[in-house]
Amino acid sequence: MRLLIVEDDFELGKALTKSLTRAGYVVDQAKTGSEGLAALRAQTYAAILLDIGLPELDGFTVLREARAAKIDVPIIILSGRGMTDQRIAGLDAGADDYLVKPFDLDELEARLRVHIRRNAGQAKDTIGIGDLELHQAQRCVTRAGIPLTLSAQEYRLVNLLMLRNDRFVSKAQLEAALYDHTAQVESNTVEVAIYGLRKKLGPGRIINRRNVGYKII
Ligand code: CA
Repeated sequence: MRLLIVEDDFELGKALTKSLTRAGYVVDQAKTGSEGLAALRAQTYAAILLDIGLPELDGFTVLREARAAKIDVPIIILSGRGMTDQRIAGLDAGADDYLVKPFDLDELEARLRVHIRRNAGQAKDTIGIGDLELHQAQRCVTRAGIPLTLSAQEYRLVNLLMLRNDRFVSKAQLEAALYDHTAQVESNTVEVAIYGLRKKLGPGRIINRRNVGYKII
């Protein structure tokens, strides 16, 4: 799962990136409104954390332009204390949620999970495909009730594949979920992780359609 944080407060941006990376997300950071908008147009994100007071373009402008461009990713506003009118304006402009600074990181992670899940059309925290179950809050996948031991990369892939369980996920989307844009991506990284996953999930569970992508069945 790849997230974009648009926040000009250096310390807050750093703390969020650190804790969300630890929670298993791949995090891109933008420090101005226009950087954020450019990143949104270039990359597909699972969710966006958006500050309102930003240099160049403010958060409202980023939000309105993103929605006008039909980018329907969950957007959570990070709002200053006591700014009730900002929060209402943000929700009216198309934000999905808001958090008041300083906020609790566990609450932020819980809300992210809910919005990402809903956006993928999944209402519950646990997603099942056959005897496989993804438990997002515990970051765990079980097969016939037994937890699988997965590497961080394997978990990211299986998480994305199970969230999109009725669709194929392209190799590019899987690559994007594995790395932030500063990392050097080996051309066969996805294949290697899929190979590892196939051994753990059992034969026939991940199907691959050439030039389309991968799907769990
Ligand atoms: Ca700010």
